[in-house]
Amino acid sequence: MYCNICGNIEENIGIFKIKMCKYCLDEIQNLKYEDEKYDYYKNLIRIALGYYILPPLELNPVN
Ligand SMILES: [Zn+2]
Repeated sequence: MYCNICGNIEENIGIFKIKMCKYCLDEIQNLKYEDEKYDYYKNLIRIALGYYILPPLELNPVN
């Protein structure tokens, strides 16, 4: 299993639907607002959470 963030093939931790390695998890946990990677990770997590929260697309035809 590859880390969804850096592509590292290490022991990964599944968070919601994303898999990330310890390194990336540490990065996120230690992220500071002024960090230049902050937006990058923030968006990544937002997208991941969006997939997690959104129900699967189902078409319910209205008769
Ligand atoms: Zn990683």
